[in-house]
Amino acid sequence: MEQSNPPALVRLSEGVRPPAGWSECCTCGHRWRTGQHGGHSCAEKLREELDITDKLLAERERVLRAIPECPEHGAGCVPHALEWIERAKAALAA
Ligand SMILES: [Zn+2]
Ligand SMILES: [Zn+2]
Repeated sequence: MEQSNPPALVRLSEGVRPPAGWSECCTCGHRWRTGQHGGHSCAEKLREELDITDKLLAERERVLRAIPECPEHGAGCVPHALEWIERAKAALAA
């Protein structure tokens, strides 16, 4: 009986090392000169990134809400929104 092994996990972090002379926090990705004081607040850095993500999501929501719902998938369908925008652009250019 043939038994296939599960695909090896792709480890994104592998091989992505900070440049020589730099240390990296494995929690938040913050970098600092090796040997120097690397004190930082992971929570603060992560919150900053979350803020950006939140803002981007809010913007996306606003765009999607401005566009009629997808007849198939309802509101928030990105492919439909892109199609709708393309159609609107074509209509404007015509
Ligand atoms: Zn950190
Ligand atoms: Zn859709």
